[in-house]
Amino acid sequence: MKNIMFIAPPAAGKGTQAELVCSKYNIPHISTGDILREISKEDSEIGNYVYETLSSGQLVKDEITYQLIEDRLKKEDCRNGFIIDGFPRNLDQAYEYDKILDKLGYEVGNVILINIDKKTLEKRITGRRLCENCKTIYNINDENNSPKVESVCDNCGGKLYQRSDDNLEAFQTRYAMYQEKTEPIIDHYRKQNVLKEIDGEDSVENIFKKIDEIINK
Ligand SMILES: [Zn+2]
Repeated sequence: MKNIMFIAPPAAGKGTQAELVCSKYNIPHISTGDILREISKEDSEIGNYVYETLSSGQLVKDEITYQLIEDRLKKEDCRNGFIIDGFPRNLDQAYEYDKILDKLGYEVGNVILINIDKKTLEKRITGRRLCENCKTIYNINDENNSPKVESVCDNCGGKLYQRSDDNLEAFQTRYAMYQEKTEPIIDHYRKQNVLKEIDGEDSVENIFKKIDEIINK
């Protein structure tokens, strides 16, 4: 089992694929967001710092994030592989991540890039609707995934709503950030010959199949 890093633009389905891989291979899903939320509950110096930083909407200092990631990756359950998610977010962090892996004697493994057209993502974002009752996700821009009755959940009859951050403007901002900060990481790992690119314009099942093939190679 190789370690896995996913790189994908916002709304490309990275989280869904990460969950599928984790449950099939029984490896941990290391997300910086989860690590920070977890530590913020601890009554320690670092726990309090993270809690206060997150509550005020600021970014946790890089050195703290690096330390927390290193501590997490050291744990027993990562020995047989893991998925790293939400990190590295920029080239500096990628260099630092490489150093952490080196220190722990790990390889970067497979860096899987999910390629997907920006227009497709825009359609997904603007069409996404959630059931306020059972949380089922629909997409009114995708005929295979639309509710049978407009604004009504097929499963439970609940009302469908649009998340406030599922709008074009917020997406454009996140996408521009992805291009600026994340695309240099792609080149960085391409040069290391560990980048595997897959076409994300496909069903969840088919994308997972492609990922599975990469993992099993
Ligand atoms: Zn429902």
